Amino acid sequence: MSLIRSSIQTLQTGDIALVGIPLDENSSFLRGPAKAPELIIDAIESDSANYFTEDLKDLNAHPKIKWCGNASFNQYLDIEGIIDSILNQNALPFSLGGDHSIAYPIMKAMAKKHGPLNIIQFDAHGDLYDELDGNRYSHACPFARIMEDGLATSLTQVGIRTMTLHQKEQADKFGVTVHQMKDLDAPMNLNFEGPLYVTFDLDVLDPAFAPGVSHHEPGGLTTREALHFIQRIEGQIVGCDVVEYNPDRDVNGVTSMVAAKIVKELLAKLL
Ligand code: MN
Ligand code: MN
Repeated sequence: MSLIRSSIQTLQTGDIALVGIPLDENSSFLRGPAKAPELIIDAIESDSANYFTEDLKDLNAHPKIKWCGNASFNQYLDIEGIIDSILNQNALPFSLGGDHSIAYPIMKAMAKKHGPLNIIQFDAHGDLYDELDGNRYSHACPFARIMEDGLATSLTQVGIRTMTLHQKEQADKFGVTVHQMKDLDAPMNLNFEGPLYVTFDLDVLDPAFAPGVSHHEPGGLTTREALHFIQRIEGQIVGCDVVEYNPDRDVNGVTSMVAAKIVKELLAKLL
């Protein structure tokens, strides 16, 4: 059993293109996420599980889902062109990171195709720093760049638990809706009009559930809570990414299976 393989150049209208973006040069603390995409696919294809989503969609050899392998590119901003080529074939990009900096060039391509989008960001961190360690493309900064460039009509963050005064100012300046972990019981609107993009940083999960990330931030979502929120999203999802899996930090591959589960349930929303 397996996912269908495809080249990124030979997609068809309506395909969901799983593509690896093996970039971790904008990570601020540890490298590792560049090794993630193929390991997440290995986990999806592991004989230890089946291919059904929880709403009983069979992903095994599903004709719309294509694993395109790792994309090749020379430098960070060239990621935009990879997503362009997927969108130009009227396929839907589902990127496997890589660190979260990839969200900025991805959203540049998405906004060219769809206009400014709604974004849901699952993350322990706001990633709204103006710069970090002198790098404005750091994985701590992509949503500042996205909002400055007007690529999003709305940004809704879920699972935040590392707020700083600077990032509070940035969130207020950009009109970001922030659902912090400390307020998890408050009502959360995940219904959107117009095109919607979902970006899932695995460190939104508590490190007890997903130790294979660079930044262990206690007090996060359970895997079940994250799946619950994904399953509750209503809107026209036009792209997804799952980022920040760091296999160097993983324990017995548990986080690769968690990443695979998140990918599967996001795919269920797209089919
Ligand atoms: Mn992030
Ligand atoms: Mn994060």
